[in-house]
Amino acid sequence: MFNKLRPRRARKTLSPNGELALEALSHGWGIVPIHNPVEDAEWGAACSCEEGSDCLSEGQHPFVGDLDSNILRTTDEVKRLWEMHPKLYVGIQTGAGHGVAVQLNYLCEFFVDVVVELEEPLGPMPFTPKANSTSGSEFHLFKYPDWLPLEERPTFLLGSDAVVMQDDGYIVLPSADEADRTLHVPEHWEWEEGLDVPLAELPPQLVELIKSAGAVGAMNSGAPR
Ligand SMILES: [Zn+2]
Repeated sequence: MFNKLRPRRARKTLSPNGELALEALSHGWGIVPIHNPVEDAEWGAACSCEEGSDCLSEGQHPFVGDLDSNILRTTDEVKRLWEMHPKLYVGIQTGAGHGVAVQLNYLCEFFVDVVVELEEPLGPMPFTPKANSTSGSEFHLFKYPDWLPLEERPTFLLGSDAVVMQDDGYIVLPSADEADRTLHVPEHWEWEEGLDVPLAELPPQLVELIKSAGAVGAMNSGAPR
């Protein structure tokens, strides 16, 4: 009758970072594949890109140079890429149109060209996905405020407590691969609250800061993307 079942192709197990990419995709975010750090006998850490141990941003830059045409948007695309390159890190698109705003306290001055003193400390942040790095940096993810008029959208706002809004940028999520914890990279990121926590609205202190961005100016040179 109808029981002539074809043998099913066994589902390949996806790597931890492949599963992380699928989870991020399920939020409706564009997925940016990121070159991962690798162990290097001589230098400690290197990058999976062709620069290898000469790369200065291991685990931080896109797998392909042309970001715009290489955003992954389907489960099939994600599975295909992470089956071929299981160790790749996972980035997500941020900014207007992508639904995610980022607040970043970057203590690594290497990445920050412009620092503006904040008049007030930012204070406590709402419960929302949050990650911390071994160098003391941290980021929070918030819903992007779509009410914000275009001319008031700062690409980056940096402060002493540094605040960053990233338009048409991306942020790299902490690796889900346990083995990456032992890599000798300058900054290792861990979730404090992961993607199972819903994104909160931008808190009032960040809204105020963004609204006063005209006085501070929108800056985008040399800052992390
Ligand atoms: Zn690299």
